[in-house]
Amino acid sequence: MKATSEKHWAWRGDKVGYSALHGWVRRRLGIPRFCEGCGSENKKKYEWANISGEYKRDINDWIRLCTSCHRIFDGVPWFLEIREVYKGEDHKLSKLKNSDIPLIVNMLKEGLFQRDIAKKFGVAQNVIFNIKHGRSWTHISGIKSY
Ligand SMILES: [Zn+2]
Repeated sequence: MKATSEKHWAWRGDKVGYSALHGWVRRRLGIPRFCEGCGSENKKKYEWANISGEYKRDINDWIRLCTSCHRIFDGVPWFLEIREVYKGEDHKLSKLKNSDIPLIVNMLKEGLFQRDIAKKFGVAQNVIFNIKHGRSWTHISGIKSY
């Protein structure tokens, strides 16, 4: 994975609302403890990165990244990169990929709402429910049904 564009992301003008927004992100989404780019869980620091560049108060507009993924992420156009790093080419199909499952399991561990996770991955809430309760993707999640 490499940065393919010379464009460099920068704050788009409105710095005034940033502190308030950052507070909202932490309150609503918590402190990131893993990376949605590389899947790592054991790095020193994780950050929230904004996807659209519009800093929406919407969980789907934010992604957890480690500092090294964040650096790569910042160097390329947002939507191209989010697809490459995070969603893959199957985004429109709204189907989970193998690599999504550990991320979902981590989000469940973090205590995120199932509906928020579902929204983020573009799937129905019951898909997340089934993962949580060991009814699907168990070969990857390792979650046993009980
Ligand atoms: Zn990473």
